[in-house]
Amino acid sequence: MQKTVYYIEGDGIGPEVWKAARPVIDAAAKAAYGGDRTLVWTELLAGEKAFKETGEYMPQATLDTLSKAELAMKGPLGTPVGGGIRSLNVTLRQVLDLYACIRPIRHFGGIESPVKHPEKVDMIIFRENTEDVYAGIEYAAGTPQAKKLLEFLRDELGAKVDTAAGVGIKPMTEGGCKRLVRKAIRHAVDHGRDSVTLVHKGNIMKFTEGAFRAWGYEVAKTEFGDVTMTEDEAAAGGGKPIVIKDRIADNMFQVALMEPEKYSVIATTNLNGDYISDALAAQVGGLGLAPGVNMSDSLAFFEATHGTAPRIAGKDMANPGSLILCGAMLFEHLGWNEAADKIYQAVNKVLASRQVTVDLAGQMTGATTVGCVRFGELLGE
Ligand code: NAD
Repeated sequence: MQKTVYYIEGDGIGPEVWKAARPVIDAAAKAAYGGDRTLVWTELLAGEKAFKETGEYMPQATLDTLSKAELAMKGPLGTPVGGGIRSLNVTLRQVLDLYACIRPIRHFGGIESPVKHPEKVDMIIFRENTEDVYAGIEYAAGTPQAKKLLEFLRDELGAKVDTAAGVGIKPMTEGGCKRLVRKAIRHAVDHGRDSVTLVHKGNIMKFTEGAFRAWGYEVAKTEFGDVTMTEDEAAAGGGKPIVIKDRIADNMFQVALMEPEKYSVIATTNLNGDYISDALAAQVGGLGLAPGVNMSDSLAFFEATHGTAPRIAGKDMANPGSLILCGAMLFEHLGWNEAADKIYQAVNKVLASRQVTVDLAGQMTGATTVGCVRFGELLGE
């Protein structure tokens, strides 16, 4: 069986980490299945490389191919400074309707962690990816749009509004929130997870964040009522496999550090999810080791969660772990679990040996560290 994976190399450290990660991912499939299951990689242009070759940072041909694709993977893309160009990542998410950003937070032995019991950390974050303040509806102070909106608010609320203010809008739709929570609960059902926590700031923003919470509980009750229960129902003896609970975002940062074992699946809004994903990744080795996937209903687009790391680009110091672990996630998505396990085993061995890159306080240089130095282990040598 062959599966086509479209890939974007990315900017900055992108080419280095790709060079290290791709052979490891292929070797894992080979070690697990001989030649019976393979990935076929097809490159798509985006970012600096695309600009050099086509004069555009995000060529339409790339978007057209991705809009019909099932699997894709990308290195980090820089946001071109100036010229009014939108973030390429945000463009991809919005054009391809990649509405769920999914990040596992799992601890690997040998990695130092700021939490007391990192071995208990095994969470997966589902972040809504297309709405909220990231929808890009913003007007600078003094623009006619900002003034008009502020005048409307002044008239509507009778509030004293300074019209020399920038204005941003935080749209959150019922459909958008519900499909994200649905995906998170579905994941919990399919993977035997025991809780889904809705993370929000509904105490302050009632009609956006608060609505996310209410819609989340509604999905749980109406669509997964046979397998989910609330915390109150659980306390009363409930007996269903998945507890649906909610936490206010600032509190979540505390409890996720102090009692990570109580939080298995997290479902949250866009801005909260952005902060929480990076903060929790720091518990388990930082961004260099954190894989992720952005999903629509048809495309799974795996991505290194770190940026282009311009200060270390081209120095052969970057950790390719994030992309390598994206490979493991991709295999799990395909149900190729034996190949995913090969990757986890190899990464565990390399990390335990402390032959790691500088971001993990190691001395090794060479983006090949995590992957290729111990390449042989994947092949069972
Ligand atoms: P960054 O992730 O590039 O760097 C943050 C810090 O982590 C730096 O100290 C960097 O050296 C280190 N780091 C990151 N990845 C590493 C790796 N694999 N190995 C070792 N160390 C690593 O974040 P930033 O500096 O805020 O952003 C730089 C650029 O990347 C910006 O243009 C930003 O827009 C872009 N960016 C892209 C993505 C993406 O494509 N998904 C994500 C974040 C930032």
